[in-house]
Amino acid sequence: MYPVPTSMSPSRVEAFTACPMAFRFASIEKIPEPPSAHMTKGSLVHRVLELLYMQPATARTIQSAAQAFEQAVSEYQLDPEFTMLALDPAQEQAFFDDCWSLTQAYFAMEDPALVREIGLELRLEAQVGDLTLRGIIDRLELDADGKLVVTDYKTGRAPGLKYEQSRLAGVHFYSFLCEAVFGQRPAAIRLMYLRTGETITATPSAQSVKFITTRTTAVWKAVEKACQTGNFRPREGALCGSCAFQPWCPAFGGDPSLAAVEAPLRFRPMAPA
Ligand code: SF4
Repeated sequence: MYPVPTSMSPSRVEAFTACPMAFRFASIEKIPEPPSAHMTKGSLVHRVLELLYMQPATARTIQSAAQAFEQAVSEYQLDPEFTMLALDPAQEQAFFDDCWSLTQAYFAMEDPALVREIGLELRLEAQVGDLTLRGIIDRLELDADGKLVVTDYKTGRAPGLKYEQSRLAGVHFYSFLCEAVFGQRPAAIRLMYLRTGETITATPSAQSVKFITTRTTAVWKAVEKACQTGNFRPREGALCGSCAFQPWCPAFGGDPSLAAVEAPLRFRPMAPA
């Protein structure tokens, strides 16, 4: 009934698990969602840190971060991901102030001059049977022993203990990709939560890597079945409050068959004239 995807990323795996119906709208019907300030802030701060790390290690100062920030702001001022937020001048100022605060917070967490990075925004993929697993690694580096370390920047808050393991399940995906592409399992995976200054570190093991392939294959089989039967169940939860597809969600009395036509029309007025 629907085309079966041939590739999965950590965010797609989590999206299907969180709500199959929202997954259908976004990943199967590919209805573009309006940007959110939260997501755009994350992209901009990632860009600042990417630009910072293009500098030689000794030049990675807060002054050079300020220049990287200015460049990223000028790039985003023309980007639909930002322009479609349609912020008024005061909101725009608050948006950029927050992005700069997050950049400054990064410097309180580590000294970028001491990091031995070997890759930035790395796009990796590996095959598991017929399925291609894909992921983007924010930063790959070497530790003092020459072992691989994956670092992932987060601009949201650190999860509570209850959700920590599920967040780490996503990052073990990266250790699987590293092992498949570079033949070496990372010694550590670090999630840096810039807003709260916390770093969560996971140590991948043979079991955690195997778990990722097992879990992803199981999720993919469920996606395949949903595509064949057309049964993408809505899963009501915390995400519903910010779900752009709620007007077409059967759990809220909507008709999903209308989303492909109506959603782009409804989302378009968010773009500035
Ligand atoms: S409103 Fe909730 S249940 Fe419906 S598609 Fe969105 S996340 Fe899923």
